[in-house]
Amino acid sequence: MNRTWNQYVVKQENKTLVLSTIINETPISRAHVAQITGLNKGTVSSLVSELIDEELVEESGPGESSGGRRPVMLLFNGKAGYSVAVDLGVDYLLGVITDLTGQIVYEEKLQLPDPNFEVVFPLLTKLIQQLIDRAPKSRYGVIGIGVGVPAVVSHDGEILLAPNLNWKKIQLKQQLEQVFDLPVYIENEANAGAYGEMRYGFDSMTKHMVYVSISIGIGVGMILDGKLYTGLSGFAGEVGHMTIVKNGRPCRCGNLGCWERYASEQALIDEAVTRQILNQQQPDPFKHLIELAAKGNQEAITLFEEIGTYIGIGLTNCINIFNPEQVIIGNQFIDAKQWIYPAIKAYVDHHTIGFHQLDLKIDFARLGVYSTASGMAAFTVENFLLSQKT
Ligand SMILES: [Zn+2]
Repeated sequence: MNRTWNQYVVKQENKTLVLSTIINETPISRAHVAQITGLNKGTVSSLVSELIDEELVEESGPGESSGGRRPVMLLFNGKAGYSVAVDLGVDYLLGVITDLTGQIVYEEKLQLPDPNFEVVFPLLTKLIQQLIDRAPKSRYGVIGIGVGVPAVVSHDGEILLAPNLNWKKIQLKQQLEQVFDLPVYIENEANAGAYGEMRYGFDSMTKHMVYVSISIGIGVGMILDGKLYTGLSGFAGEVGHMTIVKNGRPCRCGNLGCWERYASEQALIDEAVTRQILNQQQPDPFKHLIELAAKGNQEAITLFEEIGTYIGIGLTNCINIFNPEQVIIGNQFIDAKQWIYPAIKAYVDHHTIGFHQLDLKIDFARLGVYSTASGMAAFTVENFLLSQKT
């Protein structure tokens, strides 16, 4: 590494450090930035001037001071650019535009008529184009596209397997980059949901979190030591396919007795049909079951409670493995909270190894149905900010 390059790298690192400090502590004075980063005041001042020129940071009126001249405060300018993020579900597309602070400024949702890739891809590109067209005018415009998918996704954005969509080996990142001249990020939807909840969901960031996304299937995203854990090749978290019943119900992954065959929306609907609570042709069956339970239908309530117990069984395994501080249940099942939560809590309380429970919180996603889209926005924004060059 030559000297010039070395100085350039150090400068970039310092600038990223200054910017991330302003983002995390906004509003903040220059002196306080210097104090937190350990950089000298002159360095901070010159880097802040660059960030102001780049419109990523702005100055506001004087902040509080304990005497003397009151300092000008620095604010992160979240309106300098916008991200487009999509939560691609088994039967829906939820697209959002967010600013650089993750604030959703516009959203659009549509139902997918068919999970076939040939059907979904044109609808996806159309939705993304609509969102790009809708993004407010700004210095950097749309800074990237993120898509969360219920799939095993490699580190380079290839969908290796999406059992519930019946997709295999699809170069989604590459295909989208050919259509849009923007950086594209693809991630497993549960990983994105976990990241979204960590970044934007709760007031204090959890460093050890297991996020369980329950819809047609089950996906799990893990935050370990403050970082998203994706494993060697990006495939960690396929916990929906852990075996909970020996020789149990067959699963689309090819195994028997997988957790998602007992604790997912699909499992709930299948069982409701078997028990004749629903007939097979019922449109929007999940919503219908919620309505039945809300009206006091005992069979529907019992079914939700049983599914809650199965959710508890899988969660207990996760808790015993990871000793998380927080477990978050996200996606569609949030709507069934009042019937499934007591069963989940009862199972976890009776079956996890005792000392794990001391500080354990079981919550439902704070961002509601937006966890995955928000997580994809966070990935996109962070990659944009890290790639800022002078
Ligand atoms: Zn399976």
